[in-house]
Amino acid sequence: MIKERVCGVFGIIGHEEAANLTYLGLHSLQHRGQESGGIACSDGTVMRRQIKMGLVSEAFKRNALQELPGRTAVGHVRYSTAGSSDIRNAQPFVLDYAHGQVAIAHNGNLVNAGDLKKKLEQAGSIFQTSSDTEVIVHLMARSGQPTTLGRLVEALSQVRGAYSLLVMADGKLFAARDPHGFRPLVLGRLKDAFVFSSETSSFNLIEAEFIREVEPGEVVVIGDSGLTSSKPLPKKPKKFCVFEHVYFARPDTTFDEQTVYHARIELGRQLAREMPTNADVVIPVPDSGVPSAVGYSKESGIPFELGLIRSHYVGRTFIEPQDSIRHFGVKLKLSPVGAVVNGKSVVVVDDSLVRGTTSRKIVKMLRAAGAKEVHLRIAAPPTTHPCFYGIDTPTRSELIASNHTVEEIARYITCDTLSYISHDGLMKAVNGQDGGFCSACFTGDYPVELSGGANPIIPLRKRIETDG
Ligand code: SF4
Repeated sequence: MIKERVCGVFGIIGHEEAANLTYLGLHSLQHRGQESGGIACSDGTVMRRQIKMGLVSEAFKRNALQELPGRTAVGHVRYSTAGSSDIRNAQPFVLDYAHGQVAIAHNGNLVNAGDLKKKLEQAGSIFQTSSDTEVIVHLMARSGQPTTLGRLVEALSQVRGAYSLLVMADGKLFAARDPHGFRPLVLGRLKDAFVFSSETSSFNLIEAEFIREVEPGEVVVIGDSGLTSSKPLPKKPKKFCVFEHVYFARPDTTFDEQTVYHARIELGRQLAREMPTNADVVIPVPDSGVPSAVGYSKESGIPFELGLIRSHYVGRTFIEPQDSIRHFGVKLKLSPVGAVVNGKSVVVVDDSLVRGTTSRKIVKMLRAAGAKEVHLRIAAPPTTHPCFYGIDTPTRSELIASNHTVEEIARYITCDTLSYISHDGLMKAVNGQDGGFCSACFTGDYPVELSGGANPIIPLRKRIETDG
């Protein structure tokens, strides 16, 4: 099975500190992937690569970066998953082919990668990884086009699905985004250097100037003669992943001139308008529920408090304890503040509800801390369908909203009331009333048809849900 998860990409060309800046860029994309990090750097003659398992800050020591000389670099962080940590799938990939070396970093998921891989293997290709990204390189290698750009475009014209891609080859840096623009990719400037990143949060850190988004279907090439751009792929309606606003991106990132933080505040405001509650206090499920809870509080006039504290020291290396104390899982991450919730009617705002297991434990914790009533408000519509375009949602049978009514879910979670924002309300909050967004995980309306090789990205988002 070919699997790829949500990831972050960063690239720079024309800077003598290319590897160091890529390290910093990846650091600010760490929320997009904690399984592995990688940097490939070119000094114009040779490409060198360092890939490490784990967090960027822990994995890359000073000497690793010193072994990456050169003025062009691409970097990648990959999402954390259970049981499939494999250094062979860590990106960027650096491969030798008939036209020299090529490095590639990919965020997204190709829905026809399985079919293409089968055909390529029948034609003699030998794959080194189980990643869909490698398919693109094999297609480039088989292309008869005379230039790297031609080979890349020929490869991209055969793949379907989501990709925001950085390719380093030929002394140039190529950036490409699929025709629907599912996943983000932005272009910036740092003195004479050009930079690309999944999110503008990287630019804030390295003090690069944001220029613009790479447009859906666009291929940008940066080389000695500067920047060139083309749109060689058939035009499609824009379908930017709305989940980036809801949950995935960092709040200080901006998409389409809207800061994610403000989109989440607006989600909370809209939720309060649609689902008002008579309560004493609004509390967020930290961290990603915070802006929406602020919005809910502002709109409703109910005071905002931090009634749940999140520990930031429960990392991916945490060893599951023995069964006898395993139930402490969520408690290790989230802890109720009795002084805030005791004797109160509490509105709890979360960004989304996937399986319901964590929410159930949160409600139990809040009641044990003395909460009189617990009203759960979700700043996303019910998640009923899996994602095939690069976000690791569970399969349909594991999504509680795909086979239960809101009343049944509320009973399972044991909250007093449960409400979700409407789909229209979501679109209003992200300025998407006129389209431009994919929201298939809430509607089942998939913009790109799936083929035999497509698989949902499993297991699910793990930050809170799985260790519960
Ligand atoms: S299905 Fe959902 S998570 Fe996947 S791209 Fe569409 S909106 Fe984003």
